[in-house]
Amino acid sequence: MRCPYCASDEDRVVDSRPAEGGAAVRRRRECRGCGQRFSTYERTEQALVVVRKRSGELEPFTRDKIVAGMEKATKNLPLAPETVRRAGAAIEARVRSLGRREVPSEVIGAEVLAALRELDDVAYVRFASVYKGFTSSQDFARELANLQHREP
Ligand SMILES: [Zn+2]
Repeated sequence: MRCPYCASDEDRVVDSRPAEGGAAVRRRRECRGCGQRFSTYERTEQALVVVRKRSGELEPFTRDKIVAGMEKATKNLPLAPETVRRAGAAIEARVRSLGRREVPSEVIGAEVLAALRELDDVAYVRFASVYKGFTSSQDFARELANLQHREP
């Protein structure tokens, strides 16, 4: 790493520690040329994933959007915010592990449904009602029946 003070390429790492909540590693370096210290940050390269919506529109995939949708579905339910955030992180990891640049919104919706189904029945039905576009009480009844028939 080139020294910002004297442009020497020779340095040694004197300290490494996690930064940005573990998303990065901060390395403290000491130039062998002039002895000045400087820091570098190392992060994983995160490929941009885009979501193709049913309308055909593309939008950047973000964990925040998933978490926001789940928070809406779990509003006023006895779930710790941390539980929802962790589920959002797990969904992001699974979506990224597909290794696709473009992911249909249906795939993400199905992931969110599966996660909410694990967390809370009410949250699941709330999300499903919006996501699947319920228009009648029969839609709700069918979804509730599905829930009751699931294997324990
Ligand atoms: Zn230097």
